[in-house]
Amino acid sequence: MKNLSVGIQLLEDSLVFGNVEKVFSRVWDLLPFTHVLVSIQNPRLLDACIKEAHEKDVDIYIWKQIFHKIGGEDDAPRQLVGLNLEPIHKSWICPNNKESTESIMEELRLLLNNYDVDGLFIDVFRYPSPYDGLISMLTCFCNSCMTKAEEMGIDLEKTRRGIKGFMEKIQKLYIGEIISLKERFSRPNVFHYLLQNSEILDFLKFRSHSINHFVKNVEQLVKESGRKLGLDVFPPSLSWLVGQDYSILKDNCNWMKPMIYCSGLGPACMPTEIVSLARELQKLNQRLSDEDLIYMISQFLELQLSYKNLNEIETKGLPEELVRLETMRAKEAVEKRIPIYTGIEAVVTDTCSISPRKAESYVKNAIEGGADGIVVSWDIELVPDETLKIIRKALTSSF
Ligand SMILES: [Zn+2]
Repeated sequence: MKNLSVGIQLLEDSLVFGNVEKVFSRVWDLLPFTHVLVSIQNPRLLDACIKEAHEKDVDIYIWKQIFHKIGGEDDAPRQLVGLNLEPIHKSWICPNNKESTESIMEELRLLLNNYDVDGLFIDVFRYPSPYDGLISMLTCFCNSCMTKAEEMGIDLEKTRRGIKGFMEKIQKLYIGEIISLKERFSRPNVFHYLLQNSEILDFLKFRSHSINHFVKNVEQLVKESGRKLGLDVFPPSLSWLVGQDYSILKDNCNWMKPMIYCSGLGPACMPTEIVSLARELQKLNQRLSDEDLIYMISQFLELQLSYKNLNEIETKGLPEELVRLETMRAKEAVEKRIPIYTGIEAVVTDTCSISPRKAESYVKNAIEGGADGIVVSWDIELVPDETLKIIRKALTSSF
């Protein structure tokens, strides 16, 4: 086997004191791993995991959600400001809010000081996604952002008006225009169109630099303590919507895990994010039919899609081949400077049930796409033995 990295993720929910060793050895016996990413608050449990990982000579990272805690507390800050300068009533933190980011940095510093881990693995270091709706997604125009933009030489007020104008354009598209737009919706055309519009370009640039600025600070902290930084990122086809730019982030981390989730439902899962975006566009303009949108999605992803309607994308999931395409795009975007560990779904839950065959196909597609490794997502305790065995076989037989 080529030296492919195998990561696993572990959530506190699955652990109680006393079962840590059992959890580790079940997986270890079926699929020897090189990295473990743990989301654990309890200090004794975290120490127990560190001990288990280090006994197996495996790297252990603390997995931390940054700007939004999924299922987060009610008293979490609500700092984002939307296109109409309205406060967004969701518990998201603005990456340019000094007070909040300093307190996050302090929390990360304490974790590194107190635990003998090999690194940090940060997640949700981004703006809201289509899942949260367009109003939340198209942020942030708070005072801190205005100041930050000025420093970058960007007029954020002009940008805001430009983005509003762009939304109005979508609202007014009539049938004939939709038909011609559909035909021109190839991936290169879409990016060309977006990037030649100076307000959209400034908006994307401002957001990706704001996110990168934060990541750079985290990397500094991690480096100073002799540790490593891994990033949980949106897949390349969607990352530009949430302020994550692979081409600049690559300089400020040790590796990235693109979340190429083709089946799951929820934030960061491709079916949900894509369908949410399509539905938001339909809210703006009811002339956009499911059929038109599916055609555009297919053109943009450069992937044959055959669905009767948008709902089917969520119920059936996206083709496994997307794992290969998105892995290739991630490798290209980081210019092969850092390893790409493709995040593949392998869990069995009420809402997402990945068969061993599908998990095997995800692994094969990731390898074909040039992945330097995989991360078995989301929580290893929800991944059946049979799936772990087949993943091992897929990893071994590819070489
Ligand atoms: Zn802001």
